[in-house]
Amino acid sequence: MRRISILGATGSIGQSTIDLIKRDRDAYDVVALTGGRNVAQLANDAIALQAEVAVISDESQYGALRDALAGSGVVAASGARALQEAASRPADWIMSAIVGAAGLPPGLEALKHGTTLALANKESLVTAGPILMQRAADHGARVLPVDSEHSGIFQALIGEDIATVERIIITASGGAFRDHPLDRLNDVTVAQASCHPNWDMGQRITIDSASMFNKALELVETKEFFGVRSDQIETIVHPESLIHALVGFNDGALMAHVGPPDMRHAIGYALHWPDRRALPVDRLDLAQIGQLNFRAPDPARYPALALARRVMEEGGLAGAAFNAAKERALDAFIAGEIGFMDMARVVCVTLDKMSARDGLQNATMTLDTVLDIDRLARIRAGEAIKMTGH
Ligand code: NAD
Ligand code: MG
Repeated sequence: MRRISILGATGSIGQSTIDLIKRDRDAYDVVALTGGRNVAQLANDAIALQAEVAVISDESQYGALRDALAGSGVVAASGARALQEAASRPADWIMSAIVGAAGLPPGLEALKHGTTLALANKESLVTAGPILMQRAADHGARVLPVDSEHSGIFQALIGEDIATVERIIITASGGAFRDHPLDRLNDVTVAQASCHPNWDMGQRITIDSASMFNKALELVETKEFFGVRSDQIETIVHPESLIHALVGFNDGALMAHVGPPDMRHAIGYALHWPDRRALPVDRLDLAQIGQLNFRAPDPARYPALALARRVMEEGGLAGAAFNAAKERALDAFIAGEIGFMDMARVVCVTLDKMSARDGLQNATMTLDTVLDIDRLARIRAGEAIKMTGH
């Protein structure tokens, strides 16, 4: 039996992971499930999977979780320390599917025990990629990508020498507003931004897909995970979301990863790696699909992409500042404090301020400095939001 834990079990990736686990229930011993706020979902799954412990991050929900788990044998816990403790429980495979920089500390904790970390939480690579990869190396742990693009790249690289890779192309659907009039983009609503044309995901990543902040994070994620130069990484808009990524080699070959937009593929690949097992995802009918389309991303529509280039070139703590400013700007957009295009302006102003004042490039990277910069960037972004607010 493989011992597994799921951090962020109540979210979109967490639920898709649980769907796969439930189909092969006897193969797994579930150690810990964690959630942010959704007690009912967490308790139901923890009981159904007979988890050892269920952790709700919101401490005010502890009583509700304890009551829901009464008599089930599942231990209830809450708060940040309980989350770290859950991540530190020995397991063979841990899914890191908390959204945002909040996923970094438990992911790092999990790696201390030499586990295999299935990494959906791209923010941990963007904010602290070198720390995460070093931690894994130090403890003989393995990080497997779960983002669909990175899983695709990873699969295209099997048996290949990374030195023969010329470029990596990650595709972007273009999000909810790929055809929306540019001059009306700042006025779109949160509800409009929360509908993805192809993928069914959590609200935050869906809005980040519309703004391409998600792709911006993924560019940095590619650099950190595969160790390639930023000028080797490209993005192309591919509205069908069937090709997830392409790897270009020195002989001109492009290896594409093609599949339906269903995260259970990338999750299942990471779950069974290094084996490939049957998965309950649709099979593509290429004749029916007929054609695949591609276009260059418009820099005016997607200013987040240029910000990602800047972050990759600056390096150091720029990723932590970028991600935190983006998270704060997204909070403000969801709260109706700023418009859709204002998010990129807020992030740009924050990076300008912090690069000049806070030495992002030359600072030593430790978990503490990353968390300090994360806090500072949220404050600076808050100031920028006040100046921008409507
Ligand atoms: P989601 O919002 O649906 O779920 C997030 C999970 O994290 C939930 O369990 C939530 O309760 C928990 N959480 C949120 N804030 C927390 C906090 N401060 N402390 C502890 N727990 C907290 O998000 P999602 O769409 O499942 O995405 C999860 C991660 O996977 C993100 O990093 C996202 O970028 C990445 N990802 C998601 C998809 C997708 O299809 N949904 C695809 C690729 C990558
Ligand atoms: Mg992705």
